[in-house]
Amino acid sequence: MSDTASHSYDYDLFVIGAGSGGVRAARMSSANGARVAIAEERFLGGTCVNVGCVPKKLFTYAAHVPDEVKDAAGYGWTVGAPRFDWPTLRDNKTAEIERLNGIYEKLLSNAGVTLYNARATLVDAHTLDVGGETVTAERILIAVGGRPNRPSEPGAEYGVVSDDMFYLDELPKRAIVAGGGYIAVEFAGILHGLGVETTQLYRGDMFLRGFDDDVRAHLAEEMRKKGVDLRFNTIIEKTEKREDGTLVAHLSGGETLETDLILYAIGRSPNTDGLGLEAAGVETDAKGAIKVDDDYRTTASSVYAIGDVIDRVQLTPVAIGEGMVFAFNTFAGQSRKMDYRDIPSAVFSHPPIGSVGLSEAEAVAEYGAVDVYQASFRPMKNTLSGNQEKALMKLLVEPKSDRVVGLHMVGPEAGEIAQGFAVAFRAGATKADFDSTVGIHPTSAEEFVTMREPTRRAEASKAAE
Ligand code: NDP
Repeated sequence: MSDTASHSYDYDLFVIGAGSGGVRAARMSSANGARVAIAEERFLGGTCVNVGCVPKKLFTYAAHVPDEVKDAAGYGWTVGAPRFDWPTLRDNKTAEIERLNGIYEKLLSNAGVTLYNARATLVDAHTLDVGGETVTAERILIAVGGRPNRPSEPGAEYGVVSDDMFYLDELPKRAIVAGGGYIAVEFAGILHGLGVETTQLYRGDMFLRGFDDDVRAHLAEEMRKKGVDLRFNTIIEKTEKREDGTLVAHLSGGETLETDLILYAIGRSPNTDGLGLEAAGVETDAKGAIKVDDDYRTTASSVYAIGDVIDRVQLTPVAIGEGMVFAFNTFAGQSRKMDYRDIPSAVFSHPPIGSVGLSEAEAVAEYGAVDVYQASFRPMKNTLSGNQEKALMKLLVEPKSDRVVGLHMVGPEAGEIAQGFAVAFRAGATKADFDSTVGIHPTSAEEFVTMREPTRRAEASKAAE
């Protein structure tokens, strides 16, 4: 970057959107000497901090408390009947989120980044309208994230989306969750755990498409055991609202279901409406995601994009990773690349899922055959309590190289466990490496290093039968 070029603009970099990816890119760019500004029209920290990962996880903790209370009796504790107060949880959560908003503001100001609490739109590839003010930048980074999709069937306007769940005036008595992805299963677990009579509807045969089939089936069984009314091959065709506020959902198949709340969790779309992409020459794909190359450069050479708006992998740590690559390559002369292989992930369902690598179907498709090591058991904690919840652990091993190519778990702390194993996984650990690792006893995680004999061999020909 030449000084003359850079100083003919107000900033070297203008970031639109102060979510996880945008904030990290802004801070790292500034740390590498760039003059940086960032605009945020809604809340600092974006989806993850405000209406996503963080408050969702706090709600998940709350929803697990009744299980702990139930388990207590077997351990000798007498605990009074639990009572739940939604406004306390909601408002404590909001106070914590506001604390985090403040931290994000400090991070930006300490990094020397200029913050505009305003909506920014593109006027051209170097010019922005920021709350009515014209601002120029040598480079612009779009990190505006996504927003929940809303369906179009009659009466869909009576439903809510995940953003709304964090600020409900009151907790419903009954709820329907429509969808079968991360957000739907997580909220079905949260609502049920908080005492809401919960029905989850999914349009296909089995929810969590893309996850390992045994994981999907195990979670479905455990959710049903807990009392979630899971219905597959079912959608809402229309919804009516009665005068008393009751919603009546007409389901495919002819049945009607009365409820107090319908949550649509049917995917998210890039948040690009009215952003001025055309004016700047920034192209999008058929789904509205901004097209970028390996350096996150859009079709306009001075404009870049990272995070959910490019719709590669919609996960906070991925957006942060992309932001780092952008900042260090652009302002520190590095040539980093984001590695999208084997990204571990968790679904904070009840019970949670932790996963890294391939599903069995993917592994068979890639390698032709894999050895499957699988165990389903009642974790020790559930023995005295009488809790019937079972955990599932599954390893997929490619027989020729002995490499572990998939690792999956459903059960308590699955996310924490998968995170640890993901390091070994990415380092190329073989089954022999797992076997030679001494277990930590007694834990659930030790099962991953003590499964000696394969349960079965999965092969392409058998999978196709
Ligand atoms: P997903 O894309 O994960 O799931 C969308 C779900 O809605 C799928 O089950 C899909 O079905 C279904 N669906 C889509 N369109 C319709 C429709 N018109 N009618 C009925 N059902 C429909 O989206 P989410 O909204 O759950 O989450 C968005 C992203 O956010 C995730 O992909 C994930 O990356 C991220 N996320 C991550 C979390 C985590 O890491 N723990 C937590 C929450 C979100 P089908 O499968 O048949 O297409």
